[in-house]
Amino acid sequence: MRTYSGPFLTQDGFIQAQISIEGGSEESDIWGERGIGTIVDFEEGGDEGNPSVIIPTLYNAHTHSGDSVVKEVPTGSLAEVVGPGGFKHKALAESSEEDIVRSLQHYLERAIDSGIRDIVDFREEGIEGIRIIRSAFEGLEDKLKLRIMSRPCQMNYDEWELNKLLSLSDGIGLSSYRDWDENLLMRIAQITAKRNKPLSMHCSEDVREPIDDVIELGVHHLVHMIETTSDDLLACALEDIPIVVCPRSNMFFRKVPDIPGMLEAGLTLSLGTDNAMIASPNMFREMEAAFRVSKLFGDIDPLEILLMATWNPRKALNLPYCIGVSEPGGNPIESYMVLTPPRREPAYDVVTRKGPEDVLEIVEW
Ligand SMILES: [Zn+2]
Repeated sequence: MRTYSGPFLTQDGFIQAQISIEGGSEESDIWGERGIGTIVDFEEGGDEGNPSVIIPTLYNAHTHSGDSVVKEVPTGSLAEVVGPGGFKHKALAESSEEDIVRSLQHYLERAIDSGIRDIVDFREEGIEGIRIIRSAFEGLEDKLKLRIMSRPCQMNYDEWELNKLLSLSDGIGLSSYRDWDENLLMRIAQITAKRNKPLSMHCSEDVREPIDDVIELGVHHLVHMIETTSDDLLACALEDIPIVVCPRSNMFFRKVPDIPGMLEAGLTLSLGTDNAMIASPNMFREMEAAFRVSKLFGDIDPLEILLMATWNPRKALNLPYCIGVSEPGGNPIESYMVLTPPRREPAYDVVTRKGPEDVLEIVEW
């Protein structure tokens, strides 16, 4: 048994606590050759263990892992890079399935090694795309909960395809509102709702989109919300629609999310690393970027940023998943990570200084 004590991140912020761990190993990689340890004792206020910071494992709320195979530096506007027929699609079309699977595996392993245990992936390429990511995910099931938000292969409505996507994945994750014909979108939304699965999409990433029409579709969560008015943000807050922001990806396209403004509007925010060809899945880097760019808009408590990578997505996204460690409805097991000791202020320390090399071990509770 080993014991750690220090700041422990609860849903309401840090408390002083001591935990005792049994099983698993703190040796070798962070997952331990002998598996993951379990918290067998928790003592609020305890301070007799090895000094450390203990936080939930990191949650990457938005990725496009499929374009990890694209290694060149993307140049051009958002539409030229990720739009239909653009840089990304050409590069993907030129890649073999073997290369795509290998890159996906590497990307997911990198995510795991940096302390991530949950990923929400917007999977492109329709049914085929799901098959490919599942084959890359083989063998990683007990280390990562992967939620797949799939989308139709083409920008059209095929009820058979949509039903198949809904059976094989956790929900539908579309490009953006303005890419689609309104009537088709409504039909997709209806079938998705009928199947009780979430519908999500990018919104107002580089131009403002009609938020009332987007909300009307019954969206589960939205990604980006940069080119917005304060009324757009309030409308989402009123409907309790969580937002995922991806500042490193946005900066690549010369955009910056107004995180303090979104928090001010009452939105629940989560963080994602977005396109794999633009950013690594490393959430420490994303947290640091989010914190620093927020300073452009005003003051921000680093704890808000840390919550965006830990508790907020767990509470707000609440996505069931088809593949992963356990099935929805089973015993909720939460995973935590034990990090090296903090400099005085733990949230500021984790957000601005810590990295994957500070993860001592992952534990379950
Ligand atoms: Zn995205």
